Amino acid sequence: MAVLITGGAGYIGSHMVFELLDRGEEIAVIDNLSTGVWWVLPPEANLVEGDVGDDSLLDKVMTSRTFDAVIHFAGSIVVPDSVADPLGYYLNNTVKSRTLMAAAVRNGIPNFIFSSTAAVYGEPKTMPVTEEAAAQPVSPYGTSKLMTEWMLRDSAKAHGLRYAALRYFNVAGADERGRTGQSTPRATHLIKVACQTLLGQRRQMEIFGRDYDTPDGTCIRDYIHVSDLIGAHFDALQYLRQGGESGVFNCGYGRGYSVLQVIKAVEKAGAKKLAVIDAPRRAGDPPVIVAEAERARSVLGWRPTRDNLDEIVSSALRWEEKLLRHNAKG
Ligand code: UDP
Repeated sequence: MAVLITGGAGYIGSHMVFELLDRGEEIAVIDNLSTGVWWVLPPEANLVEGDVGDDSLLDKVMTSRTFDAVIHFAGSIVVPDSVADPLGYYLNNTVKSRTLMAAAVRNGIPNFIFSSTAAVYGEPKTMPVTEEAAAQPVSPYGTSKLMTEWMLRDSAKAHGLRYAALRYFNVAGADERGRTGQSTPRATHLIKVACQTLLGQRRQMEIFGRDYDTPDGTCIRDYIHVSDLIGAHFDALQYLRQGGESGVFNCGYGRGYSVLQVIKAVEKAGAKKLAVIDAPRRAGDPPVIVAEAERARSVLGWRPTRDNLDEIVSSALRWEEKLLRHNAKG
């Protein structure tokens, strides 16, 4: 049985590719390479360049071997872009997910794992946030993912599709063996931006708001190592294969770090001070988001092993250095 990975040339998807290949699974990847990078993938990834919104391509790929699961990473992820272009985000994240889901049902693929996000919660009232908290997204990005969760829920009831929607908190870090990492040039995420600043690819970086109601005034997030996140996907895959009940699962560690703590960790990893300036709050940034991730542990059997900010940051930095060398070679 093979696993179809959409967005497998992207940051998180490419880590899934290596995890499944390391475990001896057969896979195929669909990626339109809009932000993904083909050169990180080995030939065994069976990359098909194309779009998850392309019905006939999906049928062709899905009948090319026997799949028992789809892991759906492909999508757009920049929150401010989703505010500027909501219809673009609903097309890419919601409409195309519907096309993919319909193709999975049509082709008899029983298991579906979906990259969802903590952004479905919006600005939760209580912390840590449980899966039971009201889903009230404050960005089209969050809404586009929540609508996909709803389509999965309803398709599970109607068509027997089994699914796990994993709600990611702040994913960071890179493959320990240096095979892949966050490669998108326009990435806006804090740890990536800080590593790029450390390596001189940016003159300076900004802290978006120092007047939040938090101990040091900067926002707090639950940073999770990408390899632990991938572990949750693998556990979800086994769980669904064994007939586990569909559901949504938070993926975070249940503890938070502030922007200043992250910057300090990057300075420590690079033994160098960062050029940092203060900037206004970024629209839509909640002060604190931390996961309650007991459900993933108890139901999926998830056992994260890399809850260590220094480890997360140093793996991100090693990948950023590798990327710099790769890009310098042209
Ligand atoms: N942040 C920052 N400077 C940056 C990028 C991010 O101060 O250059 C802050 C951002 O305001 C938020 C936190 O870092 O409070 C994490 O932001 P990121 O974009 O990494 O993830 P998000 O939590 O928005 O998904």
